Amino acid sequence: MPDALKVGFVPFSAAARGTLVVFCDDALKFGSATSKALGVAAATVKRAVAASQFKGKSGSALDLLAPEGLKVGRLIVIGAGKPAALKDYDVLKLGGAIAGKIGASDTTVTVIAELPGGAMTPDQAAAIASGIRLRAYKFDRYKTKKKDDDASSLNANVSIAVADAAAAKKAFAPDNAVVDGVIMARELVNEPPNVLYPEEFAKRAAQLKKLGVEVQILDVAAMTRLKMGALLGVSQGSAHPGRTVIMRWNGGKKGEQPVAFVGKGVCFDTGGISIKPSASMEDMKGDMGGAACVVGLMHALAARKAKVNVVGAIGLVENMPDGNAQRPGDIVTSMSGQTIEIINTDAEGRLVLADVLWYVAQKHKPKFMVDLATLTGAIMVALGTDHAGLFSNNDELAQRLTEVGLSTGEKVWRMPLGPEYDKQIDSQFADMKNTGSRNGGSITAAQFLQRFVDNTPWAHLDIAGTAMGAPKSDINHSWGSGYGVRLLNALVSEYYEARK
Ligand code: MN
Ligand code: ZN
Repeated sequence: MPDALKVGFVPFSAAARGTLVVFCDDALKFGSATSKALGVAAATVKRAVAASQFKGKSGSALDLLAPEGLKVGRLIVIGAGKPAALKDYDVLKLGGAIAGKIGASDTTVTVIAELPGGAMTPDQAAAIASGIRLRAYKFDRYKTKKKDDDASSLNANVSIAVADAAAAKKAFAPDNAVVDGVIMARELVNEPPNVLYPEEFAKRAAQLKKLGVEVQILDVAAMTRLKMGALLGVSQGSAHPGRTVIMRWNGGKKGEQPVAFVGKGVCFDTGGISIKPSASMEDMKGDMGGAACVVGLMHALAARKAKVNVVGAIGLVENMPDGNAQRPGDIVTSMSGQTIEIINTDAEGRLVLADVLWYVAQKHKPKFMVDLATLTGAIMVALGTDHAGLFSNNDELAQRLTEVGLSTGEKVWRMPLGPEYDKQIDSQFADMKNTGSRNGGSITAAQFLQRFVDNTPWAHLDIAGTAMGAPKSDINHSWGSGYGVRLLNALVSEYYEARK
């Protein structure tokens, strides 16, 4: 991981060093361990807090430089609002608020993980640590010169003081693996497309072998033998050959049906012959956000040794307009045998997913498949950038995704499917065409995918609005958000993992 940030846990009794971070509620009350850490300065600090505009609202912060009577150089008071009402995601955001306040010059930081009502639980302390790491992440690998206001990646040693440091450390271990997975997904999305093309992406996914993940890479010859004509039709216009990567984590019972996650990995999408306008085309380096999420998720599950069998599959291509590129009017035959008339070569993500979904459904017979794809601009018209679009042929799976969406803050909103939409992609020349009409564009895209899932319980997440360029949040200031890793990790751990 690129950040030099270190986060660990110490007991309350450890002396506060460097920059001190404490919490108060919206009555501006501090807990007892906090008052103790403030020592003789407690009364002065409380007076300063009371005299300021600071109201202790959850996530707000007050900065006091060189507070008299305190050995630390800087004191940051973070508002926790009404501590009893804090949910897991709110605590994660408090961690984010801390990382938002500490700067490059704060090399040593002590956080007193106590709310006015009492010490934080080990899980809450772990969430503070996760929130700090998520918010602190910054992608600046390609900046050779850094300006002053261009605060570089945090370089701090953060000690989180808790009642039971060993318990907090234990609680943080799996969460830390998930944070690593989110950061891995963000890295992949942020990387430029001349660096991250299908073969390089496949190589990075293969690094998961170190964690015990089985990784199989299908090259063009292998995909040709499998008759993946829909995916290959997209990739034929690029100098970079396509790849499909199948990752398998066997943490569950031997022979138990796996769960499966499938990602769209269009490393760059020009639109192909149906070329896109040039404004913002550079954003299309993020058209592999679904695949990035699947790789980050596999990392998280393997690193925390999830007790479940999982298949992760990603289709990696580059959609380019060269002399060998596919044309509107072409008819391709997918691995399923169904034929597809190409109407618009910019509707390529569904062509890639069609073959990968079919492959996973046939070959791995999963309990369910969830695919993630930066699939349509239409989903942003419908939902903006705060919810991913959810489409599913299974109410239970849709309900579960909705629940974990709320608990993780990676929200989804269910959209409809139905035969009236499905018939819009019937073609006069082939079994189907790759686009419907302008209206309901994210729905007809989902209908297309559904034709390739067989009878497998399935959900499709259209993450075009959430995977990249989404508004900065309390726990993310990176262009690539890593959306979906925490969501799907929670789906697995809540509903599909064997209990110890
Ligand atoms: Mn496209
Ligand atoms: Zn695309």
